[in-house]
Amino acid sequence: MTTTPVVARSREELAAARAPLTEGDVAVVMTMGALHEGHARLIRTARERARHVLVTIFLNPLQFGPREDLSRYPQTFDDDLEICTREGVDVVFAPTPDVVYPDGEPGVRISAGPLGDVLEGQARPGHFDGMLTVVAKLIHLTRGDLIYFGQKDAQQLLLVRRMTRDLDFDTSVVAIPTVREEDGLAMSSRNTYLAPSDRETALVLSRALWAGAAHAEEGPSAIRRAAREVLIEEPLALVDYLVLVHPTTLEDVPEWYTGEALLAVAAKIGSTRLIDNTPVLVGHGGGARPVFADEPTR
Ligand code: AMP
Repeated sequence: MTTTPVVARSREELAAARAPLTEGDVAVVMTMGALHEGHARLIRTARERARHVLVTIFLNPLQFGPREDLSRYPQTFDDDLEICTREGVDVVFAPTPDVVYPDGEPGVRISAGPLGDVLEGQARPGHFDGMLTVVAKLIHLTRGDLIYFGQKDAQQLLLVRRMTRDLDFDTSVVAIPTVREEDGLAMSSRNTYLAPSDRETALVLSRALWAGAAHAEEGPSAIRRAAREVLIEEPLALVDYLVLVHPTTLEDVPEWYTGEALLAVAAKIGSTRLIDNTPVLVGHGGGARPVFADEPTR
């Protein structure tokens, strides 16, 4: 038997819904809604580990730039609730911006620091400050013991881990591998923007990552070259970056490097900006990795 989760819209409703949950055993999955199988997998993984799962659905205006897709971002609350029901979620916290930011835009925010200025941060100034600020608030509001994030957004995952360590949050960050469509496309709420021909074009991202990872044993330049050669063949993908970087500094790895690295790509396909990545083990037998062997630490 499945029961519909308690839906909390206000801080008071959240506090009331959170109160009966077992202390120390609450996992939180933070989302912007338009849930898909990637989110469902996060919830399922959280359920395996924690007694209670709380999902937040909040389209955070603070992490969108003025020319970004906040106003057209898909909103599918009824379908989202169905997925949460199916996955056995206890509580859904779905506030409006005035509940999360009762005094308007916060004057004090979390700063992502230098790691927030590169890659996605370079393309989206202020994005990671806005993201970390809401993650910090949602950790406080939900009092999550474990928080679950996807490898799909690798820089976000890294920054959330850094924030919880650097600022001594009493919560553990757990990652799950990127969930993909059968043809390799990383699942994303933004995939709904893609016209059928764009969707075909978008496959070049995962193809480039696999091509790079297949050369992992040979070293950084072979990985980069193989990935780049795939991307070059698709002129309809306007590549923003293709990088092979250290997983915690996000700096390009040098040619002599062996060990874990992140192969990441961002490109505009039609009017939609997509990102994808894979952890790779450079040298040492090589190959793609689902997530970095890291965490959880408390
Ligand atoms: P979003 O709603 O896009 O902000 O994503 C909410 C959470 O789901 C984040 O931790 C994402 O990294 C994660 N997520 C989104 N898409 C995927 C995916 N395809 N595979 C794994 N995790 C994902």
